Amino acid sequence: MPKPTFSPTKLSTYLLCRVKYHWAYHTPYGKWLRRPNPAFAFGSNLHRVLEYFHNAGGAEKLSAEEFHHALEQLWSPTGFESDAQSDVYKQEGLQLTQQYYQQQLAQPSEAVVLFTERTLRRDMGRYVLMGRLDRVDEYPDGTLEIIDYKSGRTNVDEEQVRNDLALHCYALLLQEHYPDRPLQIAIYALRANKKVAVALTHDELEEFRLMLNRIVDEIIEEDWQWLTPRWIPHCAKCDFLELCVRKLGLSPD
Ligand code: SF4
Repeated sequence: MPKPTFSPTKLSTYLLCRVKYHWAYHTPYGKWLRRPNPAFAFGSNLHRVLEYFHNAGGAEKLSAEEFHHALEQLWSPTGFESDAQSDVYKQEGLQLTQQYYQQQLAQPSEAVVLFTERTLRRDMGRYVLMGRLDRVDEYPDGTLEIIDYKSGRTNVDEEQVRNDLALHCYALLLQEHYPDRPLQIAIYALRANKKVAVALTHDELEEFRLMLNRIVDEIIEEDWQWLTPRWIPHCAKCDFLELCVRKLGLSPD
C-alpha cells in the first residue's frame, strides 16, 4: 500500500477543522463542492508571471513594458466568477507586478534565483511530504532562502514567518537536497511589496519535523467514524457548511 501523502494545505486543513479535512479528503464532496476561488486564481496568475520574470533574468534583462506584456499574455480567467471579475483582478495584478518590478530594479538582490515553482517530495518514513516551492534563492555564502509569495496579505512580520507551517514544510523538503546549507524562510507580501526573511536553524527544523510527525500520526490514527463539528469563525465561509448543518447537525449556537 502506498504511503499517505501530506501537503501543507492538507495539514493546515486538518489543524483548522478535522471535519473539513474529512469532507475534503475522504469523500467526493471535496471535488464536487469546489467553487470558483478568485483569490486563489489571482495568486496562481501572479505566481505564473513572477516565475516568467525570474526565469527571463529579472529586471536586469526584462523591461517594464515586456513584463507588462507578459502578464497580459500569461493571465488566465480560470477560477474567476466572470470575465469582468477577472479583468478587475488583472488590473490589480498589473499594479502589483509593476511595483514588484520597480523594487527589483531599484534594489537588486545579491542572491541568485536557484529555481521557481518546483514540486518536491520527501519520504518521511510513515508518510510522504510534498509541497510546491514558489522560489528558492542562493546567497553568495551558500545560504538558501525559500520565498513564499502571498498575494492577499497587506503586511507581513517576523512572527508570521516563524509560525508559517508551509514554509517549514518546504524547508524540510529542501533540506533533503541541500543538507548542509544554512536556510532562511521568507514571505513576500505582494500587496505591501515587502519581504521578511528569518533564519531557520537545523535544530529548529528538527523540532518542527518531530511535531509534524506527531500531527501526521494523529491524522493516520484518527477514528473518522466520529465527527462532531464545532462552530468556528471559519464555518461562515466554509464550502462544507451546508453539509455540516444538514448531515451532522451543526448549528451556530
Ligand atoms: S462548516 Fe465548520 S465544522 Fe463544518 S467543515 Fe467547515 S469549518 Fe468544519
